[in-house]
Amino acid sequence: MTTASDSAGGVTDTEWSAAVEAVRGLTPGDDGDKIQLICHVNPDGDALGSMLGFALGLRRLGFTRLRATFPGPFELPEPYQTLPGRDLLVPDDHAFRDADLVMTFDVAAESRLGALVELLPPAPCVVALDHHASNTGFGRINLVDPRAAATSVVAEGLLSRLGVALDAEIAECLYVALSTDTGSFKFDMTTPAVHELAARLIETGISPGAISRRIFDTRPFGAIKLVGEVLGRAALDPTAAGGRGMVWTYATLADLERHGQRPYVLDTLIDPVRSVAEADVAVIVKELAAGEWAVSLRSKGAVDVSRVATAFGGGGHRLAAGFTGHGTPGEVVVAVRKKLEACLIQPTHP
Ligand code: AMP
Ligand code: MN
Ligand code: MN
Repeated sequence: MTTASDSAGGVTDTEWSAAVEAVRGLTPGDDGDKIQLICHVNPDGDALGSMLGFALGLRRLGFTRLRATFPGPFELPEPYQTLPGRDLLVPDDHAFRDADLVMTFDVAAESRLGALVELLPPAPCVVALDHHASNTGFGRINLVDPRAAATSVVAEGLLSRLGVALDAEIAECLYVALSTDTGSFKFDMTTPAVHELAARLIETGISPGAISRRIFDTRPFGAIKLVGEVLGRAALDPTAAGGRGMVWTYATLADLERHGQRPYVLDTLIDPVRSVAEADVAVIVKELAAGEWAVSLRSKGAVDVSRVATAFGGGGHRLAAGFTGHGTPGEVVVAVRKKLEACLIQPTHP
């Protein structure tokens, strides 16, 4: 059968076989069967969904010594608190220090692993599942497919090669991941193979309506007020990016506190901002700690924002990327604006 990841063609047969061997080489119930799964800091739907969906697949293969984690505070965004497999999640300081296999999900670079990066060198094997073009290749086995719409596409590719059948629990995790990273099947990488995978996930009996409502269409009243305020201070810079335009705004920790909100409620703030017709580039600057900002970048096609983000030590995809910035929001945006010109995507047919 053709899978969503076959058609993307980014992972070689050798890499798939090595990853299958890395899992099949462990015997459930043996001494050496500890598997540690890790996803990126401030986990999103793809990070958590691909990791937990895969972890449930490992459980179906008979593995019981499984732990899943992510760096930083052990706090899940509300919409992900009911994901199947959440019982496998442990705080980062409870991760296996002596895992026989470490697997990473949606992690583009070691910097996205925080203190958990220490788990990599002692691990007998590290398998990295990812879809970021900027992936640094830190795994021993790298299943990195930049044309995959989500890491869950790669995770499903490995599950099927391991002979794990999809069930409703695994499917719910993978569907959350796939729908998050495709913006509810709206982005360019929403290929026929992506819809085919979604169809197979839905065939297990999951409810796409209920999942979408929980993930995309439910937020506290205070979050609406907060987003209103943050959108109210958005600024348009029509001459940025060679005249393609840039729109930007920022949110501070004080904003969150004033409205009694957790940071995850700003995860989708980029969507209304990037809808602005007069700007190709959208920038959101969100305070992480005093003077430290999570910067989200989006382009409609004129700028390779992954190059912009990489220049500031971050990464991502061509049209969606991010990095950690320092200074004031104004300083961060001025620096980004300067970099945009150098990262314009030249039209192939002038
Ligand atoms: P976000 O704007 O947080 O939704 O992220 C957009 C894309 O950029 C995602 O694919 C992230 O994995 C990636 N990204 C965001 N922040 C960073 C970072 N600090 N380093 C590397 N990649 C990042
Ligand atoms: Mn992610
Ligand atoms: Mn992803």
